[in-house]
Amino acid sequence: MSAGLNIAQLAAVNHLAGPCLVLAGAGSGKTRVITHKIARLIQAGLAAHRIAAITFTNKAAAEMRERARQLVGKPAKDVVICTFHSLGVRLLREDGAVLGLKQQFSILDTDGITSILKDCGGTTDAATARQWQWAISAWKSAGLNAEQALAQARDENERVIALVMAKYQERLAAYQSVDFDDLISLPLKLLEQHAPVREKWQKLLGHVLVDEYQDTNATQYELLKLLVGERGRFTAVGDDDQSIYGWRGATLDNLKKLPQDFPALKVIKLEQNYRSTSAILRAANHVIGPNPKLFPKTLWSELGEGEPVRVIACDHEDHEAERAVARIQSLRAGSAAAGSTGAQHKAFKDFAILYRANHQARALETALRKAQIPYKVSGGQSFFDRAEIKDLCAWLRLLVNNDDDPAFLRAITTPKRGIGHQTLAQLGAFATQYKVSLFEALFSHSLQAALPARAVHGLHEFGRYLNDLEHRARHTSGHEAAKAFLDDWLKTIGYEQYLLDSEESDKVAAARWGNVIDFCDWVAQRCGGQIDDTGGLTTEREPKTLLEVAQTIALIATISEREQEQDVVTLSTLHASKGLEWPHVILAGVNEGLLPFQRDDSLNDEALGKLIEEERRLMYVGITRAQHTLVVSWLKRRKKGREMVPGQPSRFIAEMQLDAATVKEDPREKLRALRAEFAQRAASPPA
Ligand code: ATP
Ligand code: MG
Repeated sequence: MSAGLNIAQLAAVNHLAGPCLVLAGAGSGKTRVITHKIARLIQAGLAAHRIAAITFTNKAAAEMRERARQLVGKPAKDVVICTFHSLGVRLLREDGAVLGLKQQFSILDTDGITSILKDCGGTTDAATARQWQWAISAWKSAGLNAEQALAQARDENERVIALVMAKYQERLAAYQSVDFDDLISLPLKLLEQHAPVREKWQKLLGHVLVDEYQDTNATQYELLKLLVGERGRFTAVGDDDQSIYGWRGATLDNLKKLPQDFPALKVIKLEQNYRSTSAILRAANHVIGPNPKLFPKTLWSELGEGEPVRVIACDHEDHEAERAVARIQSLRAGSAAAGSTGAQHKAFKDFAILYRANHQARALETALRKAQIPYKVSGGQSFFDRAEIKDLCAWLRLLVNNDDDPAFLRAITTPKRGIGHQTLAQLGAFATQYKVSLFEALFSHSLQAALPARAVHGLHEFGRYLNDLEHRARHTSGHEAAKAFLDDWLKTIGYEQYLLDSEESDKVAAARWGNVIDFCDWVAQRCGGQIDDTGGLTTEREPKTLLEVAQTIALIATISEREQEQDVVTLSTLHASKGLEWPHVILAGVNEGLLPFQRDDSLNDEALGKLIEEERRLMYVGITRAQHTLVVSWLKRRKKGREMVPGQPSRFIAEMQLDAATVKEDPREKLRALRAEFAQRAASPPA
C-alpha cells in the first residue's frame, strides 16, 4: 500500500477521519494521492460506492478509474469518479423530482442555449446571443436568479439580459431542460432546500475527494460543503499556482475559506516533484516567481539536471510548425539510432505541442499531416458533438426509443414545424402529470381536453410522421435503399433549408450540410454492411436495417470517444493540458499578444494585472507538463486578423531566466531532421 508514496503523501492518504487539504506544486503527486487514497479507504472498509472522486474533466475521470482499477481491481468500478457536472446530473436524475424535474430531463449544449436565447431575445445575431449566454452563466454561477439579476443590473444592457434570462428560464422549464450551470446550481438548491435529500447524500458519501481544487467556483464549493456536511470527510488537492479558470468564475477564495469553514482541516504540503528534470523545474519556478504568493512553496526534483530548455525563434506560424515536426522527427531518429545502445524508443505519444488558442492548431495540423505524423487534437470537437449531427441522431434515437424525451424535444423543434413552445410546455405538464413520455402523451385521448385543437392537430401530425418513419426504417436495408430513405427524410423535414436559415453565413451552412452528407453516407454504408462496428471481428457483410443501425449509433459515438491510448502526437490548448504529462513538450506561439493573450485595452491596470497573473499561471502549467525536454518557440511575424504583424517574444520567456548559452538551437537537430526525412522516404515504397 505504501509503495510509491513519500512520507507527506502517506500522511494525506492515511488521514481518513476528517477534512484534508493537499496544497502543492505541479507534478508533486497530488493526483496520485487521490488514487491511492481511494484504495486506502476501500482497504479501511468503506464500500466503494460510498467514495466519490471529483475530477476536472471526463477524460481525467476515465484515467483515474483506470489507475484505481490497477490498485484495487474490480471494486474500482463502483467508486463514483466523475466531474462536478456529472455528479450534478446524478443528483438531479435521482432526486430532481422534488424540484419538478423529470428524470429524463435533457442537457442543452451551447448551440441549444444560443438558439433558445436568440428566440427569447428576438435576435438573429450570434455574437449577441453568446454575450447573453456569458452574462447569464456568470449570474448563475454567482447564485443569482433572473429576478435578482434584474434587481442588481447596473445598466440598460444588463436589464435587457436579465429580462431575456427570465424568458430563457421559463423556456428551459417548459422543455424539461437544464444548462451547464444548472448542473451545479440545481443540485445545490436541492440539497439546500430539501433536508431529507441532503441527509440521504451525506449518509451515502463516506468520503469525497476533489482533484484540481484551485479551479472550483463558488457554487461548486457550496455544493461540496453540503455533500460532506459538518463531519467534513473530504480530501481536496490543488495548486494555487495552477488556477487558470478565473475567467470562468473559479476562485481562490475556495482555498482561503477551507481552513475557516473546517477548523479541523489538516493541511499537507508536498515539495518533491517526480515529473520534470531540474532544468525544466527551474524555468517553471522562475516564471511563477513574480506572481503574489498565496501559499509559498518550493519544488525540487531528483531527476537530474537534464537537457536545457530551448527557445526557438521562428519566422512565422508555418515555419514554427515545420520546426516542431523536425524536432519530433529528429528526436525519434535519435532514439532509433541509439536503439542498439539501449536508449528508450520514443513513441509519437511521448510528444505534445501546446498552445494558447484553438486556432493555433491549424498550421500545426497541416505540417503534421504533410509529414504523415499521426496526431490528435485534444479538447477538439468530435464529429458526434456537432450540432447538426446531434440533431439527426436525436431523430434516429427517437425512432429507436419513442420515450426518449430529450430526443423528442430536439426532433420536434429542429427544424421548427409550427409547434410553439407553449404547446410543448403544455404537453410537458400533461406528461409529467400522467407520468408518461411526451410521445405517449401526444396520442393520449384526454390531451384534446387539455390543449387547443390546433395544437393537438400539429402534435398528431408529427406523431404520425414519426410512426411512419419508424415503420419504414424497420423495413429499409441495404446501401442504396438507406440512402434514398435518408434523402427523403431530410427533404421532408427541410433540414438543408433549416441550416441555411439558421446560419448567417452561407459558407458555414454549406459546411454543416457537408457534415450531414458525410453522416448519411456513413449510416448508409453501415446499412449496406460495408463497415462493421465490432472492431473488425466479423467479416460477414449482411445488410442491416436502418433501425438496427440507429440502435448502434449511440454506442459507436461513445466508442469513438474512447480511442485514446493510440500512438499519436497530442495537440492541445494549455487549458486542456492541465494535470497531464508528456516526456517531450513543445510550447508553440509563445508571443506577446498570444501568451499573455491580448484582451480588451479598456481594462484598468488592476484588472489587467490580474489577467497577466492568470496568463503567467497558464505558462507555468505549460512548462510543468514536460518530463524530459521542453522547447519554447515564438514567432517573428504573426497573423493578426488578416494582416501579418511583427511578433515579440512573450515576457514569460525572459522570466524563465534561461542561461543565454543554452537558448541557442542545436545545429545537430536540423541535420538529424533531414536525415530522418530521408530515412522515411527511403522506407516508404515508391508511389
Ligand atoms: P499536477 O499539478 O500537474 O496535476 P500532480 O501533483 O497531480 O501534478 P501527479 O500527476 O500525481 O502530480 O504525479 C506526477 C508524476 O509523478 C506522475 O507520473 C506520478 O506517477 C509520479 N509520482 C508521484 N508521486 C510519486 C512517488 N512518491 N514516487 C514516484 N513517482 C511519483
Ligand atoms: Mg494532478
